[in-house]
Amino acid sequence: MDCCKCYKPIPEARLKALPNTKTCVSCSSVERDYVRTIISGKTTYSEVEVIKNKDTKDYLQKLDSKGRQGFGSMLYRASKSIPEPKASNVKLNTRVARTMPEFTRANFEKVLEEAMLFLDDKDYAIQKVEKACEQEMISGVQRRQILEILEVFKPTPKVVKPKVEQEPVDDEILHAFRNWKM
Ligand SMILES: [Zn+2]
Repeated sequence: MDCCKCYKPIPEARLKALPNTKTCVSCSSVERDYVRTIISGKTTYSEVEVIKNKDTKDYLQKLDSKGRQGFGSMLYRASKSIPEPKASNVKLNTRVARTMPEFTRANFEKVLEEAMLFLDDKDYAIQKVEKACEQEMISGVQRRQILEILEVFKPTPKVVKPKVEQEPVDDEILHAFRNWKM
């Protein structure tokens, strides 16, 4: 049977696997998944992994084509002889996940303790907290907690507008003034 697009004969094996196919492999519009062996070798048991994500597929195909065959995700990590993939090997359009900062209680306490040391100069203490937050030592929530604690220990003096109080006028003076006669 010939391919309906390029009219070249469809290989026997393909017809066996896909009896209803009308095209050869290169003319097929079906996106090809990448299949690789995870476990192979000594054991008779083997497992394959079907990779559907295009970027991952391209990346792994590239690696495997360099002769690194038969490593699975877990085996790959376990093997120290295989170097970590270089960032330059990863296609540019592959989004590299940014590792999320880990906010620990220990860091929180460290920043809080240091801020408390500078409580006499509260502005400076706050500056230190803000910096720690920028550097992702503490989270935004932790930052607010520390600022609240600082506020408890050293409240910002409230600016109270002095009330303009009418000075009590001496009754006698008032009386004299009201009854003033020229
Ligand atoms: Zn064809």
